[in-house]
Amino acid sequence: MISSLAKRVSILAPPAVLLVAAYLGMTRIAAVPPPWREILPSLPYAAIAVGMFLSLHFHRSRVFFVLLILAVFSWSSSAYLLAGSTDFPGRMISQALFLLVPLNITLFCFMRERGIFTVGGRLRLGFLAVQAGLVGWFVRYNYTGVEELLTRKLLATPFLDALPVSQSAFFVFCAGFLLMTVRIITRQSHIDSGLLGAMAAVALVSARQADPDAALAFVTAAALTLVLSILRDTYNMAFRDDLTGLPSRRSLNEQLAGLGRRYVVAMVDVDHFKRFNDTYGHDVGDQVLKMVATKIQGVRGGGKAFRYGGEEFTIIFPRKGGAETLPHLEELRKTIAGYKLWLRSPERPKKAKDAEKLRGDKGGEVAMSVTVSIGVAESEDGSTPAEVIKNADKALYRAKHKGRNQVCR
Ligand code: GH3
Ligand code: MG
Ligand code: MG
Repeated sequence: MISSLAKRVSILAPPAVLLVAAYLGMTRIAAVPPPWREILPSLPYAAIAVGMFLSLHFHRSRVFFVLLILAVFSWSSSAYLLAGSTDFPGRMISQALFLLVPLNITLFCFMRERGIFTVGGRLRLGFLAVQAGLVGWFVRYNYTGVEELLTRKLLATPFLDALPVSQSAFFVFCAGFLLMTVRIITRQSHIDSGLLGAMAAVALVSARQADPDAALAFVTAAALTLVLSILRDTYNMAFRDDLTGLPSRRSLNEQLAGLGRRYVVAMVDVDHFKRFNDTYGHDVGDQVLKMVATKIQGVRGGGKAFRYGGEEFTIIFPRKGGAETLPHLEELRKTIAGYKLWLRSPERPKKAKDAEKLRGDKGGEVAMSVTVSIGVAESEDGSTPAEVIKNADKALYRAKHKGRNQVCR
């Protein structure tokens, strides 16, 4: 339980590491010799440019727009915050930045991919442009009332008074940060984790407004976090199966190449799956595959699960012999066979209320179960992984012939 939560939280590690590195780098910027010092201000823009190139290439519109926001943030913070301006434009722009940037990053985190040059993409660009235009308008025509509104005190506590940003900006940031963290831990998206890193970077800049190198270091780190998130997401797409979330065949091939001499391969195949698909439709078939994948992933005895293709899965047990794995595979087979899937029966009343009355069989739902057959083979001296898989396949064939819903060696 704790280890699975730790695994889920570990998706936040890359942004955290990059931000800590940025903090350490920031404190050393003063020691950089002059010729190098001159190129430092272009670092955030170079990182943003790389990120934009990748997000265009891999169609990651949300990252693209957040990088655009970061570019504006970086430029306006160096023009206004670093100048230490205490006049109205400086104050207004920094208040607006610290409120709007976290707000927009949160919104982008919860938006769906809609492309960049599409209608949806243009609308989003327009949405950002309107905000920038409004802030520019307020500054240009000295709308000091807006600043008062933004900096209005919502609560009177010494802690909030000591904050470097307005209370509204602080609350928006906290709400966004919390919502994004929950989403990332449940959904495990690298892109979202990168977006959260970008948002944290902005908060760190706000906490260090007096330091001229803060924006330089943290915006660079934010852009690099997003670059990394695109790369990690793309890697994931190549090595993970989209439907079940299990590592894919490509991943299996890599794993096989790195196995030692002793290991066991189990091939798992859903019984009569075609019939299931034909009766209930492809969507229900997909549900079944997800359920089976979840159970297979939970196999004990140190087994690692992969989706081999279609309704076939592979489990690798490194450093194990065939006999050792049999009880775990038998347990897995029983777990799957004993699991009840509730499907809407065609006779189920259309209205949920009427269906509720039919409680006896769960409101017009029918219980279904699926079974799997499993073939097991172990490595032998001189055998290649391909041969072991072939043997497991032969054992699977025997399991099918003996009547399915069983484990064969
Ligand atoms: P057996 O017990 O002999 O394994 O019978 P079977 O029907 O499971 O075997 P068969 O190989 O004939 O059928 C596999 C079916 O799996 C065919 C295909 O329609 C279905 N299938 C493969 N991949 C997917 C998928 O991703 N989603 C869904 N819903 N069905 C899939
Ligand atoms: Mg099959
Ligand atoms: Mg099958």
